[in-house]
Order: sequence, then structure tokens, then C-alpha cells
Amino acid sequence: MPAGFKTEVKAYQMYIDGEWLESRSGKTFPVYDPSTEEVIAQVPDANAEDVDRAVAAARAAFDRGAWSGTTAQERGRILFRLATKIRENAAMLAELECRNSGKPIVEAEFDMGDVATCFEYYGGLATKVLGYINPVPDNAMSMSLKEPVGVAGQIIPWNYPLLMAAWKLAPALAAGCTCVLKPAEQTPLTILEVAKWFEEIGLPKGVVNVVTGFGETAGAPMVKHPEVNKIAFTGSATVGKVIVKQAADTVKRVTLELGGKSPNIFFADADFEAAIDGALFGVFINQGEVCSAGSRVLVEKSIYPKFVEAMAEKAKRVTLGPPLDRDTKMGPLVSKEQYERVCSYLDIGKKEAKLATGGGRAEKFARGFYVEPTIFYDVDNQARIAREEIFGPVASVIPFENESDAVQIANDSPYGLAAAVWTRDIFKAFRAVKALRAGIVWVNHMQPTYVEAPWGGYKQSGFGRELGPWGIEEYLETKQVHINLNEQPIGWY
Ligand code: ADP
Ligand code: MG
Repeated sequence: MPAGFKTEVKAYQMYIDGEWLESRSGKTFPVYDPSTEEVIAQVPDANAEDVDRAVAAARAAFDRGAWSGTTAQERGRILFRLATKIRENAAMLAELECRNSGKPIVEAEFDMGDVATCFEYYGGLATKVLGYINPVPDNAMSMSLKEPVGVAGQIIPWNYPLLMAAWKLAPALAAGCTCVLKPAEQTPLTILEVAKWFEEIGLPKGVVNVVTGFGETAGAPMVKHPEVNKIAFTGSATVGKVIVKQAADTVKRVTLELGGKSPNIFFADADFEAAIDGALFGVFINQGEVCSAGSRVLVEKSIYPKFVEAMAEKAKRVTLGPPLDRDTKMGPLVSKEQYERVCSYLDIGKKEAKLATGGGRAEKFARGFYVEPTIFYDVDNQARIAREEIFGPVASVIPFENESDAVQIANDSPYGLAAAVWTRDIFKAFRAVKALRAGIVWVNHMQPTYVEAPWGGYKQSGFGRELGPWGIEEYLETKQVHINLNEQPIGWY
């Protein structure tokens, strides 16, 4: 684009009850490209009134059986149609995701594949939700039936915008729930594009509603709404704690996928090249804006100096660049707010530990929220940069003496989302797998995520599991049914 020309600002509406609407207040808010800091879209700024409207639509759709009353086969087919649409339009969606979130285009393309796969997986799972016959000791048939939990309120973050929407919508829809989804205010665009296909693929109106707005004005009213049966949230631990409290009054089912400070543990016997690569991949993928980022790098003392040096050397060569550039390995952070938050941790880190590389804004870019890949070392596990989630490209390297020391440091965290251990010793690896208090443990890898496998955390990383059969369970109630086969009176009185 020639210099001086402004990017076109696209106006979006939100999708409620099968209609495209402005917010009732008429207010909108700007959405940015974090690599240029320019406004690229305006979207409706929903408040409690708009949330009411969306919840009423989802409630009505659920109660009239518009969705749960269809067959599981039909729900599955609709999810498959959605997956096909996403695959056919993957290039457009990836580009939009990339522009809006700042993630490298190659990563955005991977994400779109994962989005489609997620809808396909749950499309297939819709027909595999089974009940049980309970072997009760009476002349009776006792059954447990699975039923959709009802209206699901879904609040998602900005780091994997469309993928997080898929993780929420796909299992909910397969289960027969209706949904009100609130994308993060930073990144609402791809799900709004996808919503344009809902009618065409046969999703009845009111089944999925997309409400755009901010956390306190649009998220909180959903959490408090008496007609919402369940809240699924992915985001910061701070907001997760607020949500649990606010959901208490209406005793909502809540699932939370919160932050992490995941240990990536390197023993001296690990393959050195693979280890360095894995340490960088663990913490710099998606600019470190990953809930499972391996942000605590634990390294055995005997290889520690060499490891820190090699890691820093390689980090200096990570290609930062415009997100749409195919060589880019790290783009800008998603927003000014996130950039400032990460920079404040860079200042804290410089006081708490030693800096091996990075530590500031990548100054070769005139605009954009670019932060250098940063490595702190000699970090004390009690330091703030070892305990608090930074959600940016910042590694805290911590030395350890031996295996039990490594496990102790790894587990000494309020979080427990993920952990990884690198070693060629199978016995050591399995001992670590058992000892680590985390919902996900990788051996000789970090970050691979599959729709077939459970995802979620221990401790303050949240509760509930997404993906796989675990993911659909969270959207199901269990009903006990007892059928008396004895025609005699009970005979008690
Ligand atoms: P970040 O601070 O990195 O944006 P958040 O946890 O605040 O992470 O955001 C994750 C999601 O939670 C977003 O969709 C955001 O709008 C929403 N959110 C933020 N605050 C609240 C709240 N008080 N109630 C409900 N949702 C919220
Ligand atoms: Mg926030």
C-alpha cells in the first residue's frame, strides 16, 4: 500500500438470533492491526442489553428444541459443513487472523487447519454420546442418560481467536447446547466472518450468537445471567477468579482454562540441539502469547552455562517481522495494553535476574508492538518473573541440581497447566511424568496439541477439560432414570 494511504476500516455487525445487528446503544469500538497500530475495523460495543437479547435467543432456541431436538446425525452433518467452509476459506481467514492478532501467517494457517479439524472431530463425536444401564439390585431398569446442559456462555481470549472459538463451539454444539460466544475485544473478526455461514450450513437461528464487547460490559452480564446454564472461559487467572465468584449466585457450571507458568525441564542427557530448539519453541511460538508457554526453563547445572549461551545465540536469530511475511517467526504482540504489560515485566526481570538477550522493543520496526525474544537467567523460582504469567516472549531460565530438585522447582508454582521434560533416560522421564503436577506433560517436545487429547490445568490453571471426549462431557448433564419393572405396590405402608 502506498505511504499515506489509510487502511480501509471495515464495519462489522454482531450475530444474534440469526440477524446481523448493531449494539442497542449504537456504540462501536475499534479493532487494530498490531503491526501497524492502525484501526482495521469497527465492531458493535455490546452491553448488558445486547447480552440479554442474545441469551434470550439462545434460551428460546434451546427450549423449543431447535437444536437439541434435531438428531445427533444432523448436528454432526452441520458441523462437518462448517468445517468444509472453513477449509475452503482458510486462506482468507488465516490472513484476517494474522492481521488482527499479529501472529505469523504460517501459524495462522496451521490454526485454521486445527479449527476445521475441531469441528470435524466433534461432528463425528455427536453420534457417539452414550448412556448407561446401571446394574441396580432390583427388578428395575436403571439408566443414565446424557443431555445438553442448556445455554452455554463462552468467553474466549485473543491469542488463538478462531481456534478458541472452535474449542468452545464445537463440543457445545455436538452436545446439543445453544451458545452465546463473546470473542476477545482485541480479536473479534474471524468468528464474525465464520458466522456469515451459519445460516447457509443449516444452523437454526439462535443456536449460536456472537456478541462483541468488552469483559466488564459484555462478559460479566453473561456470567451473571440467570438464563445461562454454563460458562466456559479461557483467559487470565485474574478474570477466572472473578468469574467463579460471579457465577456462584446462579450456581452455574463453570469450566476455566487459565494461565500458566509451565516448566520446560532439560536434563543433561537430553539431545542438546533438540533441547535448545525445544526451549525456544516452547516460549517464543505465537510471540509467547500461549497459555501453555514453557516460560520457566529449568536446566541441569552441568549443562547450564552452555545452555544459556546457546539459547541466547539462537534467540537472537529468531526472525521478527510483519505477520504476513512468510519468513516471520515472531510478529508483534496483540495490543498496546499487552505490549505495555510485557514491557513492565521486562523492567521487573532486569531487577530480579540477569539478561542473556532481548529485553526491549525491537527497534528496527517504526511501528507495531514488537518485543524482542527475551531470556533472563539465574532466575530465582520465587521471583515475580518465575511466578507470574507474562504472556509474551520472555523466558526465565532457572538452574537445578538433580532430578528431585527439578521436580520440586517445577511444582513450586500456583499454576499447573503444562510441563515438559527432556531426557534420553526413559526411567527418569516416566518418574517426572508421574511427579509433575500439571494437566499436560510432554516428553521431548513442547506444545503439540491435538483435538483427540485432553487439555486443561491443575491448581490455579483452572478446572474442567477441553478437547476429546472430555470436552463434550463438560457440556452434558447426566440424568438418572429408574423404570420400575415390578407391578406390585411398594408395600411399605
Ligand atoms: P487479557 O487481560 O489478556 O485481555 P482477559 O482474561 O482479561 O485477558 O480476557 C479474556 C476474555 O475475558 C476476553 O474475552 C475478555 O473480554 C473477557 N473478560 C475480561 N474481564 C471479564 C469479566 N470481568 N467478566 C467476564 N469476562 C471478562
Ligand atoms: Mg483483561
